[in-house]
Amino acid sequence: MTTATSPSSGTAIRGRSGEATDHAPAGVATHCAYCGLQCAMTLTGTSAAALTVSPRRFPTNRGGLCQKGWTSAELLRAPSRLTSPLVRRGGALEPASWDEALDVVADAIVRTQTAYGKDAVAVFGGGGLTNEKAYQLGKFARVALRTSQIDYNGRWCMSSAAAAGIRCFGLDRGLPFPVTDIGSAHAVLLLGANPAETMPPFLTHLVRAADAGGLMVADPRLTPTAAKAIDGGGLHLQLRPGTDAALALGMLHLAVTEGYADRRYVDERTSGFEDLWPIAAQWLPERVERVTGVAVTTMRSAVAALARARDTERGAYILSARGSEQHASGTDTVTAFIALALVLGLPGNPGTGFGTITGQGNGQGGREHGQKADQLPGYRKIDDPAARAHVAAVWGVDPADLPGPGRSAFELLAALGTDGGPRVLLVHGSNPVVSAPDARLVSERLAALDLLVVSDFVLSETAAIADVVLPVLQWAEEEGTLTNLEGRVLRRRRALAAPEGCRSELEVWSELASRIGCSTDFPTDPRVVFDELRRASAGGPADYSAVTWERLDAGESLHWPCSTERPQGTPRLFLDRFATPDGLARFVAVDHVGPAEADDTAYPLVATTGRLLQHYQSGAQTRLVDELSTAAGEMFVQVHPDTAGAVGLADGDLADVVSRRGRTRAAVRVDEDMRPDVVFLPFHWGGDARANSLTHAALDPTSRMPEFKACAVRLETVA
Ligand code: SF4
Repeated sequence: MTTATSPSSGTAIRGRSGEATDHAPAGVATHCAYCGLQCAMTLTGTSAAALTVSPRRFPTNRGGLCQKGWTSAELLRAPSRLTSPLVRRGGALEPASWDEALDVVADAIVRTQTAYGKDAVAVFGGGGLTNEKAYQLGKFARVALRTSQIDYNGRWCMSSAAAAGIRCFGLDRGLPFPVTDIGSAHAVLLLGANPAETMPPFLTHLVRAADAGGLMVADPRLTPTAAKAIDGGGLHLQLRPGTDAALALGMLHLAVTEGYADRRYVDERTSGFEDLWPIAAQWLPERVERVTGVAVTTMRSAVAALARARDTERGAYILSARGSEQHASGTDTVTAFIALALVLGLPGNPGTGFGTITGQGNGQGGREHGQKADQLPGYRKIDDPAARAHVAAVWGVDPADLPGPGRSAFELLAALGTDGGPRVLLVHGSNPVVSAPDARLVSERLAALDLLVVSDFVLSETAAIADVVLPVLQWAEEEGTLTNLEGRVLRRRRALAAPEGCRSELEVWSELASRIGCSTDFPTDPRVVFDELRRASAGGPADYSAVTWERLDAGESLHWPCSTERPQGTPRLFLDRFATPDGLARFVAVDHVGPAEADDTAYPLVATTGRLLQHYQSGAQTRLVDELSTAAGEMFVQVHPDTAGAVGLADGDLADVVSRRGRTRAAVRVDEDMRPDVVFLPFHWGGDARANSLTHAALDPTSRMPEFKACAVRLETVA
């Protein structure tokens, strides 16, 4: 089985632009169940048992799928698939009818809100929900529940990159250009990104840079992606976790002092350089080397490679991902790397650019349509009176009745069951028991609720502790749209009928709304919901108003904003102006602050977490696929042999990794290429193997993203 570049067996037709489109004449043309690359595939077969997956040619995956995509049909036939609502009685989850389960939930909502107020009921969503579900969940919370307490797991994922994009460019779209643009570049700097494991088909867009010796990877580990860079003559910038902002400022310093700055671009297309430069001027290369561990010569080579590719029109891109973003200073870190890109004149020019690689399947669309605590559909702000008036008119309610901003994801979870905090929580498309930071604390707060309701198709760790579990549809059983990492809107199509006993979340919200006495219409047809979303998004930053179901089904490739003024969509943003009021990209004065938790003699190592090739996010889905589970093996901690040996551990031993918040049990994997001061843990398991028992929840002041990527730990032997 291939992991990256198997040829397409689907037949693509030509769209208007002449490139392969997402419409296939045979089988059901849809996209992968998992990550934000949204690889195209064709599903063939009429039953879950018989369904087969074949890759389909599409700009993002060029006919490739990774192992997760190839095996995605296994999810549909997982024996542990939930097909009946479950209600906890006498301490155990027992099968119940839909009427019974919905009555339990509706009664608890009414009773709780009557006694404690509207905000006593909260909602937690997910970046994997379709656009329609993300939109409807936000509407359900604000209009049916009238609660401000809604946020989602995208806060764990993209929020710092989004905040930095809005701050510097005036708009957040992960890649403001088609992913295929990267394919012609001779220099690509990846920041905390490991696509060789997280989204292997993405590597097809890095081949030219790798072959030219221009692939550069900033990562504390020698990941497969970093190894690929080195193999091609590129660079690995092996920085200490949490020192990314210092690296950015040091590289910016070098760009200026060594004559690589694009002065004309800075003058004509940006503002604020004079605010940042006094800070960057302090980051002399030798100081940066001391802080980050990256050699001055390596930084110098990286800056020169970007400038050379820019000057020779061979393409230069800087792309960030979770490694540089999941920090308590993630927004400032991305802001600093955007500043590096601006000094080099990369954003908003053909053949060069800055972008962020979205992780979750609908990580882009999921953060645009209203499931964030501070947001209304179309990427509107919930505290903007004009936005409230527009969306309230679409929803047929009084703007004054819409709640204001609520708590961010971790703050919401940490408040559960406390005085003044939510007492009932509805979870959709998320597994916070495994994926939240400081997960032991989060589990305690979930246990303190009066009622926890989880909609899922598997009994995730969060569903397992719920009071009510509602079995819902999964990817190949539903219609809808998603928006991929390039802001391209895609159709998810149904290949299978809904299993008996399962319902769409759109039906769940419609039923609950009427049971709690809400008269507003909550349509259950995804196409109708999408049309309403289009109206709600019209005029907003993420304007979908001209993206119609018919156009998507006809194979058109539509990147938002796509409106009557821009009916063909906008594959490339910022070519003429940035989305700021004055049209200029902004330098912002930011500095390096480092991890929120310092290592010390009791906790002398820095733990960083990440993903494996075979698993997706909390692993609730991919752990059900035998081939993936077998290949991934069990939980491990990757550590330098000297570091392991110093506490009496050897390869294969069981160890406890201990932080100030908890402990995680893992098999030791020694690796000469690890930094001696760093350990790595994948975060795909729960129970004793839960990496997030260690992480802590220092929050970025702007994005409210927790610091997943650096916490102080020690290793202990297991008796
Ligand atoms: Fe493509 Fe991501 Fe699915 Fe892998 S998991 S096939 S990279 S969409």
